[in-house]
Amino acid sequence: MAFTRPTGKHRRPSRISRTTASAAGVAALTTTGVISGLAAPAFAAEAASAPEHKTTGLTQSISIGDSLADEIDAQAAAQKQAALEAAAKAKAEAAAKAKAEEAKRKAAEAKRKAEAAAKAKAKEEREAKERAAREAERKRLMGSYVAPVDGSYVSTGYQTGGAMWSSGSHTGVDFHAASGTEVQAVAAGTVVEAGWGGAYGNNVVIRHNDGTYTQYGHMSSLSVTVGQAVTPGQQIGLSGSTGNSSGPHLHFEARTGADYGSDIDPVAYLRSHGVSV
Ligand SMILES: [Zn+2]
Repeated sequence: MAFTRPTGKHRRPSRISRTTASAAGVAALTTTGVISGLAAPAFAAEAASAPEHKTTGLTQSISIGDSLADEIDAQAAAQKQAALEAAAKAKAEAAAKAKAEEAKRKAAEAKRKAEAAAKAKAKEEREAKERAAREAERKRLMGSYVAPVDGSYVSTGYQTGGAMWSSGSHTGVDFHAASGTEVQAVAAGTVVEAGWGGAYGNNVVIRHNDGTYTQYGHMSSLSVTVGQAVTPGQQIGLSGSTGNSSGPHLHFEARTGADYGSDIDPVAYLRSHGVSV
């Protein structure tokens, strides 16, 4: 009987045959004209077998559907994978680009910083140079002081008594100096006397910017003339033993005025201006 034929459990019916199976059964019944009695159980059997049939069909349907779904899934998965790969690639490219841009930015920043540092350094050096120049000018004008003879020492002190001096005492100090030793102006000023000075021998008198005077005596030669401006440390002549002198040395005096007798302690004078003597 049509109803007892294999349901296709062992076959692979098409989707159509399966979906029309029940209708075909009904049609067969109608054709045979046997609709009740015998047919009923068969129908019932068909109905009873339906779940299995349907289950089978469904299973097959699912099986086929699964294949399709698998295919779709596979396709989707492939697409998804491709999309993921594309996204990853895009992400990697974006990251690389960002990295490159960051490196570029950092390089530009480093260059900018280096340039700024070089500029700042140049400015600093220029300012330091200007400061040094101003300081040198200030010292030159305001009077930086030096000893009249480099690396010497006082061999005879100020106001030392003795028959040697007309005043009865030493009006200056004697710096130890072999003949021909360089004698220099202790500070900036103007030469007011340069020539023979009697007991002082060849001597130089300088008026300084603060109104004080210094005198240098017994020199063997002079290298400045009256009216000449001098700077601290400028050579004014060479030491000797001219005039009233017992031997080569430099007689050095400091005065508050131009005239003899206004002498002050030369060592204190020099020390008050920062000279170590
Ligand atoms: Zn002296």
